[in-house]
Amino acid sequence: MQIDLRSDTVTQPSAAMKEFMMQAPLGDDVFAEDPSVNQLEAKAAELFGREAAIYCPSGTMTNQIAIKLHTRPLDEVITDKLAHIYNYEVGGYAYHSSVSVKLLEGDRGRLTADQIKSGINPEADWLPNSSLVVLENTCNKGGGSYYNLQQLLDIQRLCKEHSLKLHLDGARIFNALEESKITPKQIGEIFDTVSVCLSKGVGAPVGSVLIGDKKTMKRARKVRKVMGGGMRQSGILAAACIYALDNNLAKLKEDHRRAKTIEESLRSTAYVADILPVDTNILIFRLIEDVSGENFIQYLSANDIKAIEFSPQNVRFVTHLDFTDEMLQKTITVLKSFG
Ligand SMILES: *Cc1c(COP(=O)(O)O)cnc(C)c1O
Repeated sequence: MQIDLRSDTVTQPSAAMKEFMMQAPLGDDVFAEDPSVNQLEAKAAELFGREAAIYCPSGTMTNQIAIKLHTRPLDEVITDKLAHIYNYEVGGYAYHSSVSVKLLEGDRGRLTADQIKSGINPEADWLPNSSLVVLENTCNKGGGSYYNLQQLLDIQRLCKEHSLKLHLDGARIFNALEESKITPKQIGEIFDTVSVCLSKGVGAPVGSVLIGDKKTMKRARKVRKVMGGGMRQSGILAAACIYALDNNLAKLKEDHRRAKTIEESLRSTAYVADILPVDTNILIFRLIEDVSGENFIQYLSANDIKAIEFSPQNVRFVTHLDFTDEMLQKTITVLKSFG
């Protein structure tokens, strides 16, 4: 039995999902004529209570399009230093949009309205113009932390007061919503644009959607095209996303339960120095100094468990749709016998 805890992106489409993909009506989406893509976009927009959405090959692309839409060159994006847009998108904010970032130090990736306020530049010839705030929910590097509604409403109010645009990197928004009990429509009301990955927890093979108002999404189509993201019969992929939204949302709480169970078991081992609180499906823990991260990863690998050393001495596990209770039991057994 091979166990893969490297990411929730490793899931395989189920037989039923593949069957659904094979039945999908297709067309050319660059002409906006793919019925399955159109259906997915309408479904995502409606779910979040917004006018429109656009299907893209990746969450990096939806985030980068959003940054492009909400900024002009010489602007600055305010975000947390753990943000995916800063750490893992190859510096695309500078490359595509010619903007800088103001990095703030939040609580496991979560910013407060007051912190953001302190990050807004005053008007001066020599300062970049603060124009956009990007939040991440859940926050990957924060160990799957999520915002509560009041925190988000406070940030929304601040952004309105200071004419800042507000984008959500919601790669794992459904994991956040499962725990915070916020509705997708509430999220849609708070943010100017929302990026949602279908290739993470909900288990589709490819793609993300960017959601917002009609005018902004019309411009997003142009930006997607210039980035090379205009796809043709992509409905075959969009169909998998429709299937995922219809069938897999309710399963996320199982992923959270399994991550919690691993956390509890790790707490009783001698080789773990500390563990970030497990709020959703991500578990990040630090090994004691005597244990090398590389050796630990190798030990897991020798026992058919794949995991990554997230940063030196820190290991990340991500639970997902293809990680079963049987795999959970085996993982716990392997973890208990290390050392
Ligand atoms: C995965 C992820 C993305 C997008 O990644 P892609 O691999 O480009 O789809 C964006 N933000 C966060 C927080 C992520 O975890």
